[in-house]
Amino acid sequence: MPSPLLPETSAGFAAATWDIIAPFYRDLADAPLDPTTREAWLARWSRLDELVTEAASLAMIAYTCDTADTTKEAAHLRFSTEILPQLEEAEVTLAKRFVGVGSDRADLETTLARFRMAIDIFREANVPLVAEAEGLAAKYQQVTGTMTAAWRGEHVPLPQLSPFLKSPDRAVRESAWRAATAPYVAARDEMAGIFDRMRELRITIAHNAGFTDYVDYIFAAKCRFDYTRADCEQLQNSIQAVVGPAIARALESRRQRLGLDRLRPWDLAVDPWRTAPVAPFRDVSELQDTSARIFDAVDPVLGGQFRTMIAEELLDLDSRPGKAPGGYCDTLHARGRPFVFMNAAGVPEDVNTLMHEAGHCFHAFASDERPLIWQRHPGAESAELASMSMELLAAPYLAAPVGFYAEPDAISARLEHLEDILISLAHIASVDAFQVWVYTHPDSGDASARDAAWLQIRERFEPGMDWSGLEEERTARWYRQLHIFLYPFYYIEYAIAQIGALQVWRNARRDQLEAVAAYRRFMALGATRPLPELYQAAGVELSFDAGLLGELVALVEEEMAELRGKLG
Ligand SMILES: [Zn+2]
Repeated sequence: MPSPLLPETSAGFAAATWDIIAPFYRDLADAPLDPTTREAWLARWSRLDELVTEAASLAMIAYTCDTADTTKEAAHLRFSTEILPQLEEAEVTLAKRFVGVGSDRADLETTLARFRMAIDIFREANVPLVAEAEGLAAKYQQVTGTMTAAWRGEHVPLPQLSPFLKSPDRAVRESAWRAATAPYVAARDEMAGIFDRMRELRITIAHNAGFTDYVDYIFAAKCRFDYTRADCEQLQNSIQAVVGPAIARALESRRQRLGLDRLRPWDLAVDPWRTAPVAPFRDVSELQDTSARIFDAVDPVLGGQFRTMIAEELLDLDSRPGKAPGGYCDTLHARGRPFVFMNAAGVPEDVNTLMHEAGHCFHAFASDERPLIWQRHPGAESAELASMSMELLAAPYLAAPVGFYAEPDAISARLEHLEDILISLAHIASVDAFQVWVYTHPDSGDASARDAAWLQIRERFEPGMDWSGLEEERTARWYRQLHIFLYPFYYIEYAIAQIGALQVWRNARRDQLEAVAAYRRFMALGATRPLPELYQAAGVELSFDAGLLGELVALVEEEMAELRGKLG
């Protein structure tokens, strides 16, 4: 049979089923492969992966932008539950061939290590289980994507409550907070049902692959070669010990500034330093244009890349009915471009979110220079280092005339961001601790036991907040954390990366230009070096201990004190 002709663009696979795609992989499985044909064979395989994964990404993007459209849903499901699980098997077949031939190219060392791991843990019996879990993931996205809040006689998408959550009027922000939380409280049983089955599937997948529990499986599946379960537990403890007290101090300062007896959960989003909510932009085109100016100031090359994204319409930023919640950046490998999805509602957090996602985009642009697809995405610890560092590297330019804010608003936005970094670290630690509990504790098949465990873990990591009488709402927080449903254990990476990003920020306080240069050198390496070396290239250390974290938290608190001083 002649080799099937590869489509020019991913559009050629947009309507494909696995039957259409499989022959391309079979062809590579049968093609002659030895050291003389290896480079051409790898290039063909990489191009095929680029086209197929881009078609899958475009289907996912279309669906998350419009979860109510059943055609888009069907296309996304075709990729996520039919094509991608079978693709994994085809990839493992080709990986085995490549590992058999080997390569002494230094820039393929990490690729080979990841392939060996994928081969080790692959089991055919898991293919239908992965497919079923993907179907449940889509169900979760549909439940959350179609949620609306009852607000002032209307039903509005949840992100549109963000400005009201920040209202200086405590009664307004309390009712907005209750309205935003209520849909999750109401959907608790349905979501717990989805999760029951997800949890069972994941535990079976781990057992099938020969692991005693799902946590060990996930460390292998995510190729966490450079740190262990014990390191993550140490990091949780470091955060509790060092960040917990800093959060308590930050919240005490917030409480005093707001003049309250006690802080309730709806007192967290309001800016205690401004009498009226700060609106950094009027619409998404202003959000885009101002961001482009900020990136120009950070580095003209990065600014140029962001302007390319605006010109090529690779940003979907506004909140609309039917749009899935959250924000993400995905890479379209065949065309060498990233895509950003978010739900902007006109609040300062949207600025941070776009800075974050743009960091992922710059990483995608930089690593696209690597010829093979497997050399580009280095794993979440590095991906989030790129994004979280950008939030901090952009900070000096947030004030007008370059950025969004009048000077005092820029200062208070900065304070909010630093406070949020501390609170997020504790949240991350609690989500990681909770997931370990869920996949190792014998009672975790019981929805009430899970909720009780969540509440207990939150007590450890949420100081300074009065949650009395709000147990259901506090419980609902984990159902809102989509990673727990869609990307299990994709979470501690945010803390690992935040500790890296705070070091990038520390370096930038001494020398902004050199910190940006190191940041770009790190991104250009893509996935070609092991994690500790990637961090080194960015000028930072991969760290789990309380010592370095303590120094960084002290710097954050020092900066916060200085900023508060400026606001008087
Ligand atoms: Zn991210």
